[in-house]
Amino acid sequence: MMARLRLQPEAIGVGMTSQRVRDRLIDRLRDGAHPGGGISDERVLNAIRTVPRHLFVDEAFATRAYEDTALPIGHGQTISQPWVVARMTEALLMDGMPGKVLEIGTGSGYQATILAALGIEVHTVERIGELLRTARKRFRSLGLNVRSRHDDGRIGWPENGPFDGIIVTAAGPALVDALTEQLAVGGILVAPVGAQGAQQRLLVLRHEPDGRVVQQDIAAVSFVPLLSGYID
Ligand code: SAH
Repeated sequence: MMARLRLQPEAIGVGMTSQRVRDRLIDRLRDGAHPGGGISDERVLNAIRTVPRHLFVDEAFATRAYEDTALPIGHGQTISQPWVVARMTEALLMDGMPGKVLEIGTGSGYQATILAALGIEVHTVERIGELLRTARKRFRSLGLNVRSRHDDGRIGWPENGPFDGIIVTAAGPALVDALTEQLAVGGILVAPVGAQGAQQRLLVLRHEPDGRVVQQDIAAVSFVPLLSGYID
């Protein structure tokens, strides 16, 4: 069930932020031109069509918001490329719609908004206070109830777990045990993993009902680093 977003006039968009330009992005995500393959989950494509990505970047970048590219959001961080957001969301949904998802790395709040638009209960953790404050304003103005926390996300959010899905949007050298431990049975974790400077791989883990954890490598990706501690 798609959640209803409260869309203010600026969410409608004109010119390079118009619905026509957004639909072109959807066509591009679907057609498989990306080396990682096309996106086929209509629920995901529909969420990306609905969420106004131009409200999640600085105004100077608004006209580029519907290009399939990562864009700067300040503090040396980026909003992920739409294809990557789509692929990670598709992986989270592959066994059905998760009820409750934990995101590490709120950043602009775009990925969290995509999940919330799908009707998922979203819990998100960000280490940079200023980014989180801006993201919270966006959740509020879209009328979304996203739970968020200012902390080092490598500890997860144990009080609110376990989670049906966990999505990590910054790359660490290895999977973080504390996060895997907060994954519910049957749950899916999606995370980019790779040492700094090295090629990163997008990993998908499933916590099988028999207790095993099955791992799949689904794409080459490029994320900002998962860092320790938190700053204002
Ligand atoms: N999901 C974001 C992508 C942001 S980029 C979006 O849709 O815009 C990755 C984010 O992860 C950055 O904001 C960065 O500050 C944050 N991050 C890095 N290490 C972190 C950590 N240990 N805990 C929480 N957030 C972290």
